[in-house]
Amino acid sequence: MTIPTPLLQVPRFAGLPAIFYRATAPTALYSPRLVMANAALARELGLDAAHLSTPDNLALFCGNALPGHGLPLATRYGGHQFGVWAGQLGDGRALLLGERACPNGQRVEVQLKGAGVTPFSRMGDGRAVLRSSIREYLASEAMHALGIPTTRALLLATSDDAVYRERPETAAVLTRVAPSFIRFGHFELLYHQGQHDEIRQLADFVIDQYLPACRDAAQPYQALFAEVVARTASLLAQWQAVGFCHGVMNSDNMSILGLTLDYGPFGFIDGLNLGHICNHSDHSGRYAYQQQPQIALWNLYCLASSFLPLVAEPELRSELDRYDDLYQTAYLACFRAKLGLATECQEDAALIASLLHTLHAYHTDFTLFFRTLAAFDPGAVSAPVAVLDLLVDREAGLNWLARYRARLMQETRPQAARQLAMQAVNPAYVLRNHLAEQAIRLACDAGDYREIARLARCLAMPFSEQAEFASYAALPPEWAAALAVSCSS
Ligand code: AMP
Ligand code: MG
Repeated sequence: MTIPTPLLQVPRFAGLPAIFYRATAPTALYSPRLVMANAALARELGLDAAHLSTPDNLALFCGNALPGHGLPLATRYGGHQFGVWAGQLGDGRALLLGERACPNGQRVEVQLKGAGVTPFSRMGDGRAVLRSSIREYLASEAMHALGIPTTRALLLATSDDAVYRERPETAAVLTRVAPSFIRFGHFELLYHQGQHDEIRQLADFVIDQYLPACRDAAQPYQALFAEVVARTASLLAQWQAVGFCHGVMNSDNMSILGLTLDYGPFGFIDGLNLGHICNHSDHSGRYAYQQQPQIALWNLYCLASSFLPLVAEPELRSELDRYDDLYQTAYLACFRAKLGLATECQEDAALIASLLHTLHAYHTDFTLFFRTLAAFDPGAVSAPVAVLDLLVDREAGLNWLARYRARLMQETRPQAARQLAMQAVNPAYVLRNHLAEQAIRLACDAGDYREIARLARCLAMPFSEQAEFASYAALPPEWAAALAVSCSS
């Protein structure tokens, strides 16, 4: 059934030559039900939530009806997975449904995840399971509310269709929104197949549609690569500053626009462990928390290779060489803000490193510590009990607090203003694994979606104390430590 709809337009990506994608019909979900509709994002798209979930639109967003302009597209990309070139991957379970012109003038792509097999599904079933789709919905919206660049989640639908993983699970389709879903891997596959003209076409497309300022540079393609390096460095600093582990930083999961993309076995750190591995399948710890910034650089090297037909190697190397400084500058800015430091001091890097080692040594809760630290007053006789209680080793804790006090004494900003500034960058609420798990259990075992909605409401305002959600800001329960998340989603 084809429902003509004014909701979406032909995506700009469809203007690229046919080699970039395959037009693909989605596979209908049996008797789909709405799990969540994102009213705030709907408004940004010039829609309202009620409009989103009309039967016609629900059908559109779970692959049971086609947009008026025709078949969706599965795009073609490759990637390095766990350090090895994996060849052609492509949208194995994602379909670019169309594009939406927002009232603010921005155009965004609308993509279905889990709407059935595509020419790139390889051995997969093209489906997504409800459990993982809930995690992606909540996490991507939580990241957005934290101010971190990310794809968004517009709508989540489910059905009684079974999907087989380690056991039978419930199918779901997630409607995702982003300016573009282009990945490093889109460029890499073209390079590995010797399609150099197409690399240029894709680079021109990215510049013209998303990064037009690069066109004015003396070397537009070098400027494009420099922009990707800068956005990636900034993104990684922001991930580290909220304790976010992506879990599968393969180059096919890296966004050309520096967005957080493809939420799989991700995790927000509870008790700090610098070597934390959130992906149960990552046996070597390649994507551990403290590895992430260097892995991003490794992925940028992969992308750089694909730019060789466009930019001379020394220029690409010089852009790659800027990564460490860009990352370090962004990282220091994030952590200075977290510590309430308005000025810059040579010793700040050492102060931050020593804090992270102290928190790591005793697995102090990362989110709670920074949130609580705003109560620390350098003028007071002693540190607040709440801060001291989080520093298990009192001596090490007091030593660090003495250094911090001395550093704060160099600042001129009044304590109250600093406290407010710290609360505006240190979230009270992040999507801890156990919070997602509680919502997932209710949804998957009892068909009760209310906890997803509650969590989404809380995480939409991560920096504001919300009395009704006090328990979401607390230390995780014992059972949280045993939660394991793997790639099977
Ligand atoms: P991911 O690990 O989710 O980033 O996926 C890596 C590659 O596997 C991408 O090409 C995905 O489209 C594909 N893929 C993952 N899960 C499935 C599935 N259930 N069916 C088909 N393709 C999949
Ligand atoms: Mg992926």
